[in-house]
Amino acid sequence: MALAMHAAMTRAWLIGAGPGDVELMTLKATRTLAQADVVLVDDLVNPDVLQFARADALVVYVGKRGGHPSTPQAGIVAQMLEHVRAGRSVARLKGGDPFVFGRGGEEQQALHAAGIEVDVINGITAGIAAPAAIGIPVTHRDHAQGVVFVTGHGAGSGEPDWAALVATRMTLVIYMGMRRLNDITGALLAAGMRADTPCAAIESATRPEQRHVLAQLGEFAEAVSRAGLGSPAIVVIGGVASLALARDAANAGAVGAVGAANMTGSSGAADASGASGASASGASDPADATDAQ
Ligand code: SAH
Repeated sequence: MALAMHAAMTRAWLIGAGPGDVELMTLKATRTLAQADVVLVDDLVNPDVLQFARADALVVYVGKRGGHPSTPQAGIVAQMLEHVRAGRSVARLKGGDPFVFGRGGEEQQALHAAGIEVDVINGITAGIAAPAAIGIPVTHRDHAQGVVFVTGHGAGSGEPDWAALVATRMTLVIYMGMRRLNDITGALLAAGMRADTPCAAIESATRPEQRHVLAQLGEFAEAVSRAGLGSPAIVVIGGVASLALARDAANAGAVGAVGAANMTGSSGAADASGASGASASGASDPADATDAQ
């Protein structure tokens, strides 16, 4: 009883830090972060957001980057429980939105099971921010009736039913898809998706090192691999990706904006990776553990 009352007085939050650009964090996220005694930080979080944390806050990195092994999920939850039970408020800071492929749901369940309330503070998810960063509106009504957020990783609930997704004819936004891109595009083609479907991959979206590759589905995996793009990256497949093609082409001065806007995947926009500025410099490891998150 005493423990339950104690727990109720302390606080735990799952906070979305957004896709990278610090200014894409919400006001509520920054204000809440400023209250936390302890901040547990995921690897996709831009460390610059810690400027909003208290100077005396205990900051713990539980991510997988920098060659360090990941902190097992159970260990992260155990740390959160330990701090809350000791009367410390805990902010769990996650990239994008905490409830979109971020395991925030699992952490909420574990905290609830331990009798601890947790507040969720949304963030802008990479699946919307990354396409937008190169001019792709994921639900443009001329191109799609909706958007599907799907993991390319296949862990947990298994391999997505790619054929069923092709049948929806909706925009596919794939998280954690870089390592298996060849298999994924192969499955989409095998399910009858047109080889000239416009595709985009955006790496490190909204950060200074952002890069992207545009290509048609038939050549997409090859173009991404040639450009050396790796994690973290969002893949967009569908007609809406032609709007980025249009913007790239317009920026390159190759075609006028109007002509480019009409340039759907069926015209010769096969490989725009050259216009994307993609190069081998600073390429991430495609097998980055981020993909396994
Ligand atoms: N909760 C996060 C997603 C976590 S899963 C969100 O809502 O955005 C991790 C995956 O998110 C990465 O493998 C990548 O596919 C994507 N991702 C996260 N940040 C990204 C960024 N800045 N640029 C591109 N992709 C990103």
